[in-house]
Amino acid sequence: MVKNMNILTDLEKPNESDYLNCIRCGLCLSVCPTYQEYLSETASPRGRVALARKGLDGELELSPNLIEQMYSCFACMACNDVCPVGIRPADLALSMRYVQEQRDPRPWKKTLFEGLIPHPNRMELATLPLRLYQVLGIRRLVFALGIKRLFPKQLRDLEGMLPHMPQHPLRQVLPQLSKARGEAKHEVGYFLGCAQSLMFAEESSATVRVLTRNGCNVTTPKEVECCGMPATGYGRMDLVRKAAKHNISLFEKHDLKVVVTDCATCGSTLKEYGHYLKDDPEWAERAKVFSAKVRDISEFLAEIPLEKPKGRVEAKVTYHDPCHLRRGQKVWEQPRNLLKMIDGVEFVEMPEADTCCGSAGSQLITHYETSTHVLDRKMNNLESTHAQIIASGCPGCQMQLNSGLQRRGLNVRVVHPITLLDEAYEAENE
Ligand code: SF4
Ligand code: SF4
Repeated sequence: MVKNMNILTDLEKPNESDYLNCIRCGLCLSVCPTYQEYLSETASPRGRVALARKGLDGELELSPNLIEQMYSCFACMACNDVCPVGIRPADLALSMRYVQEQRDPRPWKKTLFEGLIPHPNRMELATLPLRLYQVLGIRRLVFALGIKRLFPKQLRDLEGMLPHMPQHPLRQVLPQLSKARGEAKHEVGYFLGCAQSLMFAEESSATVRVLTRNGCNVTTPKEVECCGMPATGYGRMDLVRKAAKHNISLFEKHDLKVVVTDCATCGSTLKEYGHYLKDDPEWAERAKVFSAKVRDISEFLAEIPLEKPKGRVEAKVTYHDPCHLRRGQKVWEQPRNLLKMIDGVEFVEMPEADTCCGSAGSQLITHYETSTHVLDRKMNNLESTHAQIIASGCPGCQMQLNSGLQRRGLNVRVVHPITLLDEAYEAENE
């Protein structure tokens, strides 16, 4: 019986070795945030492997509980790293999500993933109320008058995620070409992700400043669409491939050796375009070439002669590894090295820095209790460092950390590592 497996295209079918070879050793249990929360076999990686295998083979009904276990996976990939026989439970959970989304498509998901997220103009309009909430000073009033304390708990935590929003999305104000300061040594493409443009414009401006400071001409195609990660998580691989083709075409118009991103999630998705399109004769090679050019900003800066800033940032700083950077891209030394090169920074390693913060895209909305418990553990680890600043190169992680800090009333600043490097350059003029 293979009825559910047949719903998947060849690209979405898991490798048999991803689920047939599980030796049930249990090594994955100790690293899985959902197993640690529920201490239940079905919420563990090997439990998901067993459920997905039977679900894909059609031996088990796709019951609400089975499907829930697939959606409650944080896709943090910690299990992939420890498995001695190379099983990838997170990929299996995603395959099951693809099956579910095709068996039971929901209109609201169609609206969200087709009608909103791939359209930058609509995203800018949809997030306008959030910008006005801050820019018009309503947020300050909500805090000052204690109104936030009256919010329901989950809404309070979601509000706490908000970073300092820009007045205008960065896409609207950043020039398509930002010229190198001095001699141009590198032609760099910059992939401006949705969250970066809409919410983290200050840090992405810092990214472009640091690049131009270090001899890069930076080309930012304004028509890029969402990288596709949200659609990946909900089984709409058709939309991910569509976004990939659109974005690849845009960057192909420029003669660029490298495409840089300062979003860990975008980076891990862009690097997968080659895989997502490998069976498409027209696109396979183009996608492979594009993916090979993609670099996280910290990765790229480690590859070029980087000017050491002469300014100082006096602070005790720690670092949280985004799953999409550490596990998705195997980048973990480079951002730490950037922080350590700044004079005045006292870098302190956080216990369990590489464990998931509980964000996983939308888990604070869809799996609130689990997400906040995982976040509380992260906050305990953060508090033990006595750091004044926590750096992390992923907007989702930064928002989750912001929420955790507000829950605890902790005065710790959340930044992208590039922000501190930029501040050290700016401090040269003081
Ligand atoms: S670590 Fe791998 S082989 Fe061991 S139980 Fe987990 S999934 Fe199975
Ligand atoms: S990806 Fe993370 S949450 Fe999902 S099964 Fe693996 S360790 Fe658990």
